[in-house]
Amino acid sequence: MKTVIIKAQRRVEIVDEDVPKPKGDFAVVKVRTAPMCTEFYRYRDGTESLCLGHEAAGEVVEVARPGRVRAGDRVVVMPQFPCGACELCRQGDYIHCEHVVDPYKVCGGTTGKATYSQYTLKQDWLLLPIPDAMTYDQASMACCGLGASFGAVRTLGIGASDTVLVTGLGPVGLGAVINCRSRGARVIGLARNRWRAKLAMELGVEAVLDPDDEGCLSRLKALTGGRGVDQAVECSGGARYQLLCIHGTRRKGAVAFVGESKELTVRVSDDLIRNGLTLYGSWHWNLKDAPLMMETIAANASAIAKLVTHTFPLADAEEAFKLQMGGECGKVLLHPWA
Ligand SMILES: [Zn+2]
Ligand SMILES: [Zn+2]
Repeated sequence: MKTVIIKAQRRVEIVDEDVPKPKGDFAVVKVRTAPMCTEFYRYRDGTESLCLGHEAAGEVVEVARPGRVRAGDRVVVMPQFPCGACELCRQGDYIHCEHVVDPYKVCGGTTGKATYSQYTLKQDWLLLPIPDAMTYDQASMACCGLGASFGAVRTLGIGASDTVLVTGLGPVGLGAVINCRSRGARVIGLARNRWRAKLAMELGVEAVLDPDDEGCLSRLKALTGGRGVDQAVECSGGARYQLLCIHGTRRKGAVAFVGESKELTVRVSDDLIRNGLTLYGSWHWNLKDAPLMMETIAANASAIAKLVTHTFPLADAEEAFKLQMGGECGKVLLHPWA
């Protein structure tokens, strides 16, 4: 099978690897769509990577034990390799599992962790059925396209009476826009990238503010009658954006942090206690919401068609990385069998 690896800075190779064999609760999935996420940083920085990608949709081709899935099933491949046995896994919050397993230890091989590949391994309980009318590309949005912010909008309880600030309008932030608009909310964006700001407007964002604009916070307040937004979904990981979420959200409002980041200085009294502000860390979504996730994807096909700006065959992964580095794209997909 063909797999994409990074050997050195800005050097992509397509290598031939053995097709993985399933064991235990693992199944082998023929990858039809592999959405690209943050892997391009590895290409940019030259981080040697023999295993790329954590998002996929495809077709089950082999199982070790009959049961949850069988060959021919069309499925979304959820990220991570959680244990399936701990309290968090059993509650559907598998993404926070502290006991991840190594599929190579379970299955005995040395391939199948990557999704930038023609086949991948996944536990059968993390393979979600794709409705007949849905394409692989659409269904794959359950991973980081719409999935990364789906738990956040659920937790925040965003609805039609809310005005939401979405900061960072990369593929995750644009997905957050779709999730918020889908729930009827009014959305204001914050981003530097003008190309993506334009795409966000096409997805129904009312205005996109520029974080480099000194009057950004007062503009946000002016757009919300001086009050601030009801909720904010932070998707950039940048401190300036994070603070604008905290300072631009109304009293008793809530902020969900979706973008990965390091330190942030928050004034506990002035920013949190006096404002009655609630902060959440949100990583993906609870498995019990799978039917709702699929319904949201089905109901937003035209927005998803705008979010997915480019698709590439596996052989052109390098071109795709370069496109992502330039930032003039939404969600980018690889097709390993194209
Ligand atoms: Zn677990
Ligand atoms: Zn991802």
